[in-house]
Amino acid sequence: LTAAERWIFMNGEYKRKEEALVSVFDHGFLYGDGVFEGIRAYEGNVFKLKEHIKRLYDSAKSIMLTIPYTQEEMEKLVCETVRKNNLQNAYIRLVVSRGIGDLGLDPRNCSTPNVVIIADQVRLFSKELYEKGISVITVPSRRNIPDALDAKIKSLNYLNNILVRIEANIAGVSEAIMLNSQGYVAEGSGDNIFIVKNNVLYTPPSYVGCLEGVTRNTIIELARKKGYVVKEEPFTRHDVYVADEVFLTGTAAEVIGIVKVDERVIGEGVPGKVTKELKQEFEKIASVEGVQAYADEKFGVV
Ligand code: PMP
Repeated sequence: LTAAERWIFMNGEYKRKEEALVSVFDHGFLYGDGVFEGIRAYEGNVFKLKEHIKRLYDSAKSIMLTIPYTQEEMEKLVCETVRKNNLQNAYIRLVVSRGIGDLGLDPRNCSTPNVVIIADQVRLFSKELYEKGISVITVPSRRNIPDALDAKIKSLNYLNNILVRIEANIAGVSEAIMLNSQGYVAEGSGDNIFIVKNNVLYTPPSYVGCLEGVTRNTIIELARKKGYVVKEEPFTRHDVYVADEVFLTGTAAEVIGIVKVDERVIGEGVPGKVTKELKQEFEKIASVEGVQAYADEKFGVV
């Protein structure tokens, strides 16, 4: 199927890309009122499907949005959308918005949530950048504080992240790192950050203000299995500058090394040993673990 021929799941039906349209009165469009997930399938296996669906439902619960499917039904719908598009390797975007309402903010005027599943192919960085590593900057924009909007909620409200992305674009770098309001390192615009110092891995705890990334949690697990000590504790920009290695994790980004931060060269200026080892481990399990999207061909539309 070409990109234009992709089938998009919309509220119980499959529609072609040009017909998969949302009302201008949808509160996802008007206010960013909704939640979403990004999930990958590798060789027909949907990676950490249950974890992503759980996070989607937790985010929805937090904003008091009731998704009209059970988590199990949603898992099946994700697999079905992958199958329907005949994809083996896919990036899946699952969006649940508050649905159509009036021009006021009040979500009580939105009758039904809008549930959309898109399965496509996305690569965030070029192959070359995965080999050479990327340059990043830390930006003036701070991560939204958790008592305003908790970063654990994967909401449609991504303006904070987009501002950061704009700052990265202006600086001509691939990604940018946000600090929280106290100056601790939080995360990238769409990925989590790790640093390695003396063979110990550090990643910010979620209370600093980052999403609890599924890839992040997978890397923590893999690193510990390999015998590394992993600490979830706050660190500063300085700690990043003097780290032996720095890397990002995310569903879209996967695992990518950072070789320069605010013009400071990290380590030897190439992706480090631990980064490469964990990237390899991740690739090994990503294509074999996961829910087989083609296992239940008979499953119909819920
Ligand atoms: N932080 C932010 C802000 C993100 O949007 C993402 C991508 N979902 C991540 C981190 C990485 O999370 P995950 O590994 O679950 O994709």
